[in-house]
Amino acid sequence: MFTCIGYAASSATTPLAPFTFQRRDCGPLDVQIDITHCGICHSDIHTARSEWGPASYPCVPGHEIIGRVAAVGVDVTRFKLGELVGVGCMVNSCQTCASCEAGLEQYCDAGPTWTYNSPDPAFPKTDAYTFGGYSRAIVVDERFVLRVPENLDPAAAAPLLCAGITTWSPLSHWKVGVGHKVGIVGLGGLGHMAVKFAVALGAEVTLFTTSVSKVEDGKRLGAHRVVISRDAEAMAAEANQFDFILDAVSAEHDINAYLALLKQDGHMVLVGLPEKPMSIGAFSLVAKRRSLAGSAIGGIQETQEMLDFCGKHNITSDIEVVHADQINEAYERVLRSDVKYRFVIDMDTMPKSVQA
Ligand code: NAP
Ligand code: ZN
Repeated sequence: MFTCIGYAASSATTPLAPFTFQRRDCGPLDVQIDITHCGICHSDIHTARSEWGPASYPCVPGHEIIGRVAAVGVDVTRFKLGELVGVGCMVNSCQTCASCEAGLEQYCDAGPTWTYNSPDPAFPKTDAYTFGGYSRAIVVDERFVLRVPENLDPAAAAPLLCAGITTWSPLSHWKVGVGHKVGIVGLGGLGHMAVKFAVALGAEVTLFTTSVSKVEDGKRLGAHRVVISRDAEAMAAEANQFDFILDAVSAEHDINAYLALLKQDGHMVLVGLPEKPMSIGAFSLVAKRRSLAGSAIGGIQETQEMLDFCGKHNITSDIEVVHADQINEAYERVLRSDVKYRFVIDMDTMPKSVQA
């Protein structure tokens, strides 16, 4: 075991603060990573504040992890010291169920081991749970470590590990590309990656945003059109036109308003995870044989494919780098939709020691 410093929430209502904890030493198949950057995902906020149900505290969030390999276990074959690597939302899974065998570990029957706030199989028979990437180091089974192309800026690549794969996976599963009219709802961390990917895949992309201030950014990011979703007349003009809509909104909103924009047999996919259930009118789906689906992050293999695509096309996130002592302020700004378009923590600013 070794001592690690991170930032943790000690309850649903307390700000995050410096925290010291123990990480396991590298086992035979483990990779130890010196974390250089970690993105701030809205899921970190939902979890730290127990919005999806009670979290375990202290809670060290963070699943958009980038760093360099600092040590490898004796049986590790895929990684070398010093390599640029990433870790996303999962650090293990059962490896035997149909989903794991299909390379879709995020849908593991037993539930994957999430990077934070998940029972930790490395400490069986205890109530230990995982600590995430708002920390100086992490130890992860090599099967859940991703290779990050060296041409990408490490800080701007960090959000690819969650915001990137979460939007890439449904676009890829529903084969979005040339000739498709695609809507992206919400220009946040996920939404801005969805715009970049859908444009790179050749689709005609319309951004739906509640924020008038994001119209120019939407176009700069590649959206062909931007519609203000609070404008009822503008929304009505979009009815029955879209092949595919990806909804990346973090808070309660009216899904029916977007289902109405799908053409016959169109698909709408939810990746946003608001804390409260949403209501769906049967007519919204039945009227034109529309489908509504959901999608969770992506499997390890497709995460690697996404990173390789980003390396080839030089795609990263638009980020604002923050210091560790600015995490709480960053959370408040995310909640105000005031982020362009992902906060990333510079791990060099993590305290070197923590006063008891
Ligand atoms: P984010 O950066 O906060 O972006 C969310 C965006 O939603 C905002 O920028 C805003 O866009 C829009 N929005 C916020 N409040 C709204 C409201 N009341 N009504 C309508 N639109 C609103 O969050 P994120 O990190 O991208 O995450 C988005 C959601 O996806 C979160 O719920 C997160 O937990 C979830 N998530 C899911 C997965 C998965 O595997 N499915 C993975 C990661 C995250 P505009 O200003 O453009 O309207
Ligand atoms: Zn996330």
